[in-house]
Amino acid sequence: MTFDDLGLSADLLRTVSEQGYSQPTPIQTKAIPLVLDGRDIMAAAQTGTGKTAGFTLPLLQLLSVQRPPNARRPVRALVLTPTRELAAQVGESVEIYGKYLPLRSTIIFGGVGIRPQIDALRKGVDILVATPGRLLDHVSQKTLDLSQVEILVLDEADRMLDMGFIHDIRKVLALLPKKRQNLLFSATFSDDIKRLADGLLNAPILVEAARANTAAESVSQVVHQVDKNRKRELLSFLIGSRNWQQVLVFTRTKHGANRLAQQLEQDGIRASAIHGNKSQSARTRALADFKKGAVRVLVATDIAARGLDIDQLPHVVNYELPNVPEDYVHRIGRTGRAGCEGEAVSLVCVDEIKLLRDIERLLKKEVDKVVIEGFEHDPSIAAEPIINGRQNRGGGASRAGEQGRNGAKSNAGRSRTGGRPGAPRKEGAGRPAVSRQNKPRVRQAQSGSTGN
Ligand code: AMP
Repeated sequence: MTFDDLGLSADLLRTVSEQGYSQPTPIQTKAIPLVLDGRDIMAAAQTGTGKTAGFTLPLLQLLSVQRPPNARRPVRALVLTPTRELAAQVGESVEIYGKYLPLRSTIIFGGVGIRPQIDALRKGVDILVATPGRLLDHVSQKTLDLSQVEILVLDEADRMLDMGFIHDIRKVLALLPKKRQNLLFSATFSDDIKRLADGLLNAPILVEAARANTAAESVSQVVHQVDKNRKRELLSFLIGSRNWQQVLVFTRTKHGANRLAQQLEQDGIRASAIHGNKSQSARTRALADFKKGAVRVLVATDIAARGLDIDQLPHVVNYELPNVPEDYVHRIGRTGRAGCEGEAVSLVCVDEIKLLRDIERLLKKEVDKVVIEGFEHDPSIAAEPIINGRQNRGGGASRAGEQGRNGAKSNAGRSRTGGRPGAPRKEGAGRPAVSRQNKPRVRQAQSGSTGN
């Protein structure tokens, strides 16, 4: 199957070839003809599958062939995304793919001034890419009219629900004409998503790129079990010893992201954090620095990382496992994109074993466990609960029969059992319990905030 077979116009084929895409991805092969046919679709596609072009290309084509008589240029296609970053990226794709077409688009999201958005809307746009909150701000200020929308796209619908946008989505739906084409994209399909789809889609066709809730095949996954208070050390060791140059690292909390980025900097590894408490310009700058290689590690929370499109990202590290198993699929979808190989490494402490099991249940397979020599976990440490994404810090896990480690400096990568430091070993290779001398200093528990 080639792009020529999908029914796209010459102008669009030209941009596709300029982008260097030689073949459509599976989601594009399936979605493009259906969208061109005017059908509603419910697409199970995670980031990295080429889903954006899967809806943008046919959407552009439909709008360009059916020019409305109205010279006012009402918004004819609305793409809703959960995050600013995703809105920016989808908006950029619309611009790129549509560059030979006489269509106008704009992006609106919060965290930046509303005035330029009002000006852009006033001039008239055919395609609007927006996050729900700012979209509704415009509606309430009467700077936006959605009564002429012909095509609605909900991108990463599952994340929008996770972020609590359901009420905003329903408000937006009430502003749209009843007769329209609907395209819903989601990496995962919970009952909530199915309910939303039921009320939204008209005789939809289910399109699956990869089975929902499955990780992309091109991503190799591995778990290193390690004590909580040695995760940072192990991360620095992996980055250094394996010479990883571009690593996206996930934490559960904003506070944890900040702290880890600072600690990595102290280890001499250029790092920055990206999360919802940062201004839009700080987020954009961090991402740009990461993309161009000025920053080696980007530490992100789940919500901030949604929609990050970083081409050929080779390494994703789950510094902490997500509370929601589906987020694991999203996270590792950042690597192994568009046909490239990727590696997803999870650092799992005893508190997270249950989270790991939930993830494996979702994936319907076990993730390989590999012990890094010198970082063996201490089996005598008992699990502690994770509350709202927060854990007692610094290995605060209570240790059966022993209280209060202190004093000794960390010794990254040095084997405590005499083996070659950092050598990977498959779990269960019959290793004796690790000596507990020379444990790193215990840090005080710190408060962290959850989410974004
Ligand atoms: P998406 O899943 O939409 O976030 O796209 C992931 C990445 O794949 C983006 O960097 C796109 O530029 C790229 N991409 C989209 N379609 C193709 C294609 N047919 N061939 C190669 N790369 C593509």
